[in-house]
Amino acid sequence: MKSYFIITFGCQMNEHDSEVLAGMLEAKGFVAADSMEEASIILLNTCCVRETAENKVFSLLGRLRQRKMAHPDLIIGVCGCMPQQKNMASRIARLFSYVDLVFGTHNAHQLPELLDRVANSKKTVQEIWPASRGISEGHPAKRKDSVRAWVTITYGCNNFCTYCIVPFVRGRERSRKQEDIKAEVAELAGEGYKEIVLLGQNVNSYGKDLEGGRDFASLLQCLEGINGLERIRYMTSHPRDFNDGLISTIAGLQKVCEHFHLPVQAGSNRILKKMNRGYTREQYLDLIRKIRSAVPQQSITTDIMVGFPGEDDSDFNDTVDLIKLARFDSAYTFVYNARPGTPAADIKEQVPEAVKKDRIQTLIKLQNQISLEKNREEIGRCQDVLVEGESKKKPGLLYGRSRGNKIVLFPCTRNLRGKIVSVRITESRLAHLSGEMV
Ligand code: SF4
Repeated sequence: MKSYFIITFGCQMNEHDSEVLAGMLEAKGFVAADSMEEASIILLNTCCVRETAENKVFSLLGRLRQRKMAHPDLIIGVCGCMPQQKNMASRIARLFSYVDLVFGTHNAHQLPELLDRVANSKKTVQEIWPASRGISEGHPAKRKDSVRAWVTITYGCNNFCTYCIVPFVRGRERSRKQEDIKAEVAELAGEGYKEIVLLGQNVNSYGKDLEGGRDFASLLQCLEGINGLERIRYMTSHPRDFNDGLISTIAGLQKVCEHFHLPVQAGSNRILKKMNRGYTREQYLDLIRKIRSAVPQQSITTDIMVGFPGEDDSDFNDTVDLIKLARFDSAYTFVYNARPGTPAADIKEQVPEAVKKDRIQTLIKLQNQISLEKNREEIGRCQDVLVEGESKKKPGLLYGRSRGNKIVLFPCTRNLRGKIVSVRITESRLAHLSGEMV
């Protein structure tokens, strides 16, 4: 049996792209292999947001050389954001001549055709489109989960934050038509999916490129009416595009969960400007205040970076101060990493690694303390939990997410997967809550 094995690096967008790649392979008669060792096609869907992600791909390709020598018919493919970078496809060809197929983010839908070309030519096939030629709809997805489903609503990004490689590898923002998204979500609800997660680099700018004034708020209103769907989530938002109209729309919709992931990245106005984020710390804190007053039972999470070029002690103190003021439920913290081709990589005053290390430790310690306090406030409250399954670490306990996107564990011997149950929180930890079903 022709079988495939896809290894995915990076974000939820890539996770979902891999589901679509798997769907296309299955439509072509391939079956999923249980392991890389059993597969006749190995596909690496790559990420280049950080150097570490790229190094993982290079070392895996290195390890695959022996396997390819032993099994010449094995097909090795590399796709996603890495080969979309300037000169990367030729670098892969030079370093790993045994890689059979290389394609980018704009022509992932060509996979079946490209595989035919590999099979017929017995030569390496490289096809990278410099830009998108429009959104390709109608590709089957082999989804990994049966309770929550990823649904892409936009591709690309127009924001050009100075540290970010995404606009260079994912192209300009393109929104899918509202009717295509609605049809996909209705089909998913019909298949029993209770929760969907709308995906985009910046979901708030959905519809800016569409005729007829369709925006993110109108999309949420349109999806709210779909029968069988219980919950709507979305990521990632850009604070600059989170306007009052969207806040009141979300506050008025029952299915849209009260979890807001709003990457702030830094707390210093000087650094926010150098990052080209398009808002000040005051505007960001004001946005948080507005959300908290419009949506009382909400959870707010963020992304924060330390060590952006030129960040001095007072800039960092501004970030620490903002975290204390914002009191996020949790935060993804990152150390700045220079990406070739981004404006920030050319800034002279790069922050020494030792300083970055100190700052990230300080940030993590502070945020963990706040997250613990925020989770402790949940004790005694009842949370609606969408059950995702049995805890692997703690048999006899089921787990799921609250509407605030917090993991909740509770004892139960019945199979309640896909059900929404009410759980009274009795205990809190840094990464999860525990309770009893009511
Ligand atoms: S909003 Fe900024 S950080 Fe996010 S993908 Fe776009 S350019 Fe990158």
